[in-house]
Amino acid sequence: MVSRTIPVQAFDLVVIGGTGDLARRKILPALFKRFCAGQMSDDCRLIGAARRDLDAAQYRDFVRDALREFAGELALNEASVAGFCAHVDYVAIDARGDMGWQKLSDLVATGEAQDAVRAFYFSVGPSLFSDIAERLERFGLTDSDSRVVVEKPFGRDLETAQALNAQLAQYFDEGQIYRIDHYLGKETVQNLMAVRFGNMLFEPLWNAQYIDHIQITVAESVGVEGRGEYYERAGAMRDMVQNHLMQLLCLIAMEPPAHFDPDAVRDEKLKVIRALDGVQPHHIVRGQYTASDGALSYREDVGNERSKTESFIALKCHLNNWRWAGTPFYLRTGKRLSHRDSEITVVFKDTPHSIFGPEAGRHRNELTIQLQPNEGITLGVTIKEPGPGGMRLVDVPLDMSFAEALGPAADAPDAYERLIMDVIRGNQTLFMRNDEVEAAWAWTDPIIHGWEARGDAPKPYDAYSAGPDDAALMMRRDGRDWKGLEK
Ligand code: NAP
Repeated sequence: MVSRTIPVQAFDLVVIGGTGDLARRKILPALFKRFCAGQMSDDCRLIGAARRDLDAAQYRDFVRDALREFAGELALNEASVAGFCAHVDYVAIDARGDMGWQKLSDLVATGEAQDAVRAFYFSVGPSLFSDIAERLERFGLTDSDSRVVVEKPFGRDLETAQALNAQLAQYFDEGQIYRIDHYLGKETVQNLMAVRFGNMLFEPLWNAQYIDHIQITVAESVGVEGRGEYYERAGAMRDMVQNHLMQLLCLIAMEPPAHFDPDAVRDEKLKVIRALDGVQPHHIVRGQYTASDGALSYREDVGNERSKTESFIALKCHLNNWRWAGTPFYLRTGKRLSHRDSEITVVFKDTPHSIFGPEAGRHRNELTIQLQPNEGITLGVTIKEPGPGGMRLVDVPLDMSFAEALGPAADAPDAYERLIMDVIRGNQTLFMRNDEVEAAWAWTDPIIHGWEARGDAPKPYDAYSAGPDDAALMMRRDGRDWKGLEK
């Protein structure tokens, strides 16, 4: 079911790389779902562009196939699919040559809506960004209102990220550039801000005085899934920590922005990244999965018997600021773990004194924000265990699964739907700014250089386990446990 909404302003969205995997899996289904929700007016257009020599009818067949595979039940409705395809066009272009660009320019110029928003989704590798940006300008496709959307990976270190930013800045203002991190489009991630800044309950306790530690886990059960070549060069630190986990950390740790507007929010996130301390080598555990339970090893998956790339990382870090001094943040992510599970757990401190005595045991409040597979928030509270026999305490969850609490209203658009519509609306709140990306790399680079210089090899862990034992040990040394995967 899709809740109906009012249409956004008319738009032309040109997907450069429109025949690629990301377009098929994410971009086309997301737009189709927004079409079904009534958000695309009659004069909106989706224009695919790539080198493949297709005419518009052939590209519409490609779109139909993509929707059948990735758009779920909605794509069973032939009328909806046909209606959506009526908005679709295609031009063959070469990002590195002149082929097709004039045709694309002519097509975009013939739009019915004079004030249509023009957005260009760079669904291609970053090595093509500069070529594409230059051609967009040379062929008169962009003006100061046009928008460009770029995907991760945004660089592989500070230097390459700065170079990419500089290339884009030659052609576009920062206000036109939308760097996607799809984690920010998740409903619960935005709810994090609503919970923190919309309730009186949490914010007074949201600091080192009351919070023992915070942990963020983003675990996947899948392996490298045909992306071996890319992953082998990236590893978990570049692929997940520098962007997704860092963004979650920012939202959980930032100061309240004065307004919910793009620069106010991003200014506060940037301060968090800049407050991050360096990470001690003994506070990092890198892992690599080995064959187990029918799964190939990482090395077999990427075809490199000597690979030292990490498919898992766990680390402990600190923020050097007044609010968080002394509260550790533990981040953990990996592939081929026991199950898919993304969650943030805020573990509050013990009460200063237990009136129930030591036999009541240790009970701590925990706030768990579940991002996937099911989005929801749980607050663990301590109550009396029912029944006679004295005061025994037990922790019970105050559980708010969005699906249960909100019914169909919780059937929220997926991250790409929301983020693409935000591009059309011109709202950059959920997109990373140039300085955020660069600050994140500035923190990540020395950590990576450190283990490269030491020649550290990742610790092996069984596929479909909770990761290397050393990750659990790192927590236990601190008298704490990981939440989530081990449940
Ligand atoms: P892909 O499947 O290899 O698709 C690349 C697209 O670019 C194809 O449409 C390709 O079509 C087109 N292309 C390549 N060279 C071109 C050129 N010279 N001129 C014009 N078009 C060209 O890659 P992808 O998986 O869709 O990924 C695209 C970007 O998104 C990458 O940066 C990737 O890292 C990122 N990303 C992907 C995913 C995902 O789930 N796939 C997730 C996050 C980020 P032709 O060969 O026909 O030209």
